Amino acid sequence: MKLLLKILRLKELKINGFEFRRRDKELHLDVKPYKNGCRCPECQRRCRIVRHGNEPRCWVDITIIGMRVILYYAPKEVECPTHGRLQEEIPWAAARARSTYRLEYRICALCQIMTQKAAAGILALATSTLSDALHRIITRVRAQHRIRGLVTLGVDEISYCKGHKYATIVYDLDRSCVVWVGKGKGRETIDRFFRECLSDGQKKRVQWASCDMSRTYIQAIKDHCPNATLVIDRFHLVKALNEAVDEVRKEEWRKLGVDERKAIKGLRWMLGMHARNRTKGDTRFLNALRNSNRRIHRAWVLKDEFDHFWSFRYPAAAERFLKHWMTTALKSRIPSLRDFVGTLKNHFDNIITFIQRPLTNAVAEGINRIIKIVKNRASGFRGLESFADLIFLTVGDVNIPEQIPSGLRTL
Ligand SMILES: [Zn+2]
Repeated sequence: MKLLLKILRLKELKINGFEFRRRDKELHLDVKPYKNGCRCPECQRRCRIVRHGNEPRCWVDITIIGMRVILYYAPKEVECPTHGRLQEEIPWAAARARSTYRLEYRICALCQIMTQKAAAGILALATSTLSDALHRIITRVRAQHRIRGLVTLGVDEISYCKGHKYATIVYDLDRSCVVWVGKGKGRETIDRFFRECLSDGQKKRVQWASCDMSRTYIQAIKDHCPNATLVIDRFHLVKALNEAVDEVRKEEWRKLGVDERKAIKGLRWMLGMHARNRTKGDTRFLNALRNSNRRIHRAWVLKDEFDHFWSFRYPAAAERFLKHWMTTALKSRIPSLRDFVGTLKNHFDNIITFIQRPLTNAVAEGINRIIKIVKNRASGFRGLESFADLIFLTVGDVNIPEQIPSGLRTL
């Protein structure tokens, strides 16, 4: 029996009996917590037993040498002076959990690095069972968790379900992690975050906020966080400019004949590229446009010039630069660039704030890259739920595996 305990590395329990089920490849253990007295699961206080267990419960444990270990025990009921009548604390599993901490730890650790399907394969579980278990663990941990010390927040929308549906995601940009994910991208979604997750004091302590040019998010941040300075997310602004430039390319493309089109083939990609990443050949090609296609050349030069904005150190100088750029862009008489200037005008003050506080939003921090990877890993049938689970597991503000009691974190 001692050998069995050693092999199983189960220090916190006593084994009363066991049964090998060779056909099912299962090892059933009749166990008992190795401790004196029973404790309240909420406050860990030793309590009076009010009812001895008569209904055994079972917990799925890890697989050892091809055998799935299953623990059986009939928990007692205790009476805690503070928390009332409860089922005693079980040292190997969380209250109401159907799997042991050890299995939970493995699920979390594996799902952080691989697809749920691969993790399910290693753990010999059905994908749906694993996904359910993961959801329960993360829900449990998140339910006990409160957001703390949020000073710089970022709000963004993400798509899921092959781009058909949207969710709103809130970042803590000081710690580069995700603090909240909610269904939808409307005002009611972002309001739900502010209402349910932050106290009035916490909202007042938010100093900086970054988001895209959507009125919804901007207005919500203004309404809820009176002391926050808004910074329009650099990534979204650059994206809007790139789209405006590409619009020029598309227009020109439509005008050109077959042979002339060949001359600007591959341009879309080249125009979108950052100056830093261009080869000499690319630059030569773009410069040659000055003679062959003035409009595209114009748009490209403006785009390249705009990039200087991000390197300014003094708001006044940046403001002068931006105003000058806007005038030049208007003179170009290119409609899509004029629209972009309109966007700049609408958000002027919140764009200049970038110079005061260059908020490197989630994109630069690589969170978005991780989220993209995770999106493919989530098993589809739970939709946003399983996607959000994986976001919290990989880039959330709580280290989920670390919430499992330290002695039971074995792989
Ligand atoms: Zn208690």
